[in-house]
Amino acid sequence: MPLLVINRKEDLRKFVQEQRIKQAKVGFVPTMGALHSGHEALIKQSVLETDVSIVSIFVNPKQFGQNEDLSKYPRQFQSDYELCESNGIHALFAPSVAEMYSPEFCTQISVPSLNHFMCGKFRPGHFDGVATVVMLLLNIVQPHFVYLGQKDFQQVQIIKRMCKDLYHDSNIIMVPTVREKDGLALSSRNVYLNTNARELAKTIPQALASAAKLYLSGERDCEKIIKTSLKSLEEKNLSPQYLELRSFSFFEREIHTKIEEDCVLAIAQFVSSEETQVRLIDNIILSEDSIWKEVLNNLINSVNY
Ligand code: AMP
Repeated sequence: MPLLVINRKEDLRKFVQEQRIKQAKVGFVPTMGALHSGHEALIKQSVLETDVSIVSIFVNPKQFGQNEDLSKYPRQFQSDYELCESNGIHALFAPSVAEMYSPEFCTQISVPSLNHFMCGKFRPGHFDGVATVVMLLLNIVQPHFVYLGQKDFQQVQIIKRMCKDLYHDSNIIMVPTVREKDGLALSSRNVYLNTNARELAKTIPQALASAAKLYLSGERDCEKIIKTSLKSLEEKNLSPQYLELRSFSFFEREIHTKIEEDCVLAIAQFVSSEETQVRLIDNIILSEDSIWKEVLNNLINSVNY
């Protein structure tokens, strides 16, 4: 099936209905475009696990704050199209802002218990914008499976909670973070990094890897784990916007003492690049599970690269 580009929600609904009549399992990967190998991992998993895969590209104005990078957010439709086509995506949904939001649009979805800390604290309104647009997209596509990246762990938790609370029954699949050879998490915003900032940015995975090493050696003291990451950052004169340990299964719970359950160590760090400041986020999952331990070991190996 050749890759279809669909701009109108009614056309996408029709396309999905036709697939569902054929009993096809529908996979969905929501994105803001400027696709890279991180997005590609989500796309590949959807293509592998479902019969029909849909990617959306929509730079959602509602999730950008006033001083954020909406107008200069990278847009590269042709290469995004080619990446989707070469991976066997069936439909690419690329609506305009007017198509998604009518002039009288006023509904907002908020997941308050998960949106006031970490990125939510420093980007007020951001997750309400994300939750709202994802709900719209899910209502249009009604996919069986939705693929989201671990890199945006808080976003995944918010979308999961929203779906649970609103009885939306798509399965949310979280795909592990894809990294550069030196461990830096791939991000559409990495294009803003000049050579010096790119060099500095690799301190972020290094800081997480030092915590991972300590965890894998058996350390469970929360303070020691956070301190080792902070030390790596301070050595490069970096100071994170936040660096927090939270419960994996009950994300609103911050861990302050001993680690007795699977948890997430998450960071946001500004890195200066010429006249702009680039805000990068990353996280690792500290878990007894052998799959997550392998992910931690891979990160440790990358930062030693
Ligand atoms: P974005 O286009 O930045 O909104 O991202 C679209 C999806 O791709 C989100 O679910 C992200 O979490 C995911 N994503 C972005 N970067 C990565 C990465 N490095 N590894 C895995 N998933 C990613």
